[in-house]
Amino acid sequence: MSQQPAVLKIENLHVGVEGVPILKGVDLEVRQGEVHALMGPNGSGKSTLAYALVGHPKYEITEGSISVDGSPINELDPCERARLGLFLAFQYPVTIPGVRVADFLRHAVTNIRNPDRKEGEELMKMREFRKELRETMKQLNIDEEFARRYLNDGFSGGEKKRMEILQLAMLKPRFAILDETDSGLDSDAVRVVSEGLSRLSGPHMGVLIITHHERLLEYNVPQHTHVMLAGRIVETGDASLAHDLHANGYAGVRERHPEAAAEEQAAKVQETTA
Ligand code: ADP
Ligand code: MG
Repeated sequence: MSQQPAVLKIENLHVGVEGVPILKGVDLEVRQGEVHALMGPNGSGKSTLAYALVGHPKYEITEGSISVDGSPINELDPCERARLGLFLAFQYPVTIPGVRVADFLRHAVTNIRNPDRKEGEELMKMREFRKELRETMKQLNIDEEFARRYLNDGFSGGEKKRMEILQLAMLKPRFAILDETDSGLDSDAVRVVSEGLSRLSGPHMGVLIITHHERLLEYNVPQHTHVMLAGRIVETGDASLAHDLHANGYAGVRERHPEAAAEEQAAKVQETTA
């Protein structure tokens, strides 16, 4: 790998869901080592961007491109994107009863580190994996028992976040996208993800945090804050912009961008009459 930090570049990205245009020209550049916050009112397209980045089949790129270090990744499937170092922490993680946390992680780590592995070929050596998992869990203050539980089955909000952080620590992605809902995260969950992320981030990882949580952004101060409205990034600033939005909400943003605000309104009307 080169010494230059890797770059995740989004250019003029248009994304539609079931034929409805949602993103209407998003430009964004995240370098390894940078922390970016993506904010914006509900329905502005933040999650859509996250899904499009990792290649969710329902989110169709109709124009523009996503690239890593200059190579377009639009056409790659989610696994190939993960191997290039992209990681998305889902807003609603799946529950897999019968699959233990440790087994899930062993598969995931093997697949990412050994891209040429064919289905059914050997996984990472158990002993080596166990050692690494144990050390990582210790660093993150996660109880050993956690690895034996079934994936997300009956997990509290905080435990789901612990799982997310553990995955990040084991997979070591070059770009982590965290889509954190602004509702429904209890204070334990916010603490887990805030502290865990700040411990893990560094020069090797670019982070895009989708959130409104002040605590998360206090622990992980973004160098860049972007505001999305009606499928476009309408403003970009530093950490103070995140503070301002937290204190004052989006009324000011809508005032400063009346055209986007009107589009937001029109989309809402369409949704309720559809
Ligand atoms: P945010 O994360 O900013 O709240 P979303 O990206 O979830 O916004 O949603 C943006 C718009 O796209 C909304 O109008 C939403 O209804 C629509 N949308 C997103 N995902 C889907 C989907 N899977 N099916 C139908 N509509 C969707
Ligand atoms: Mg969302």
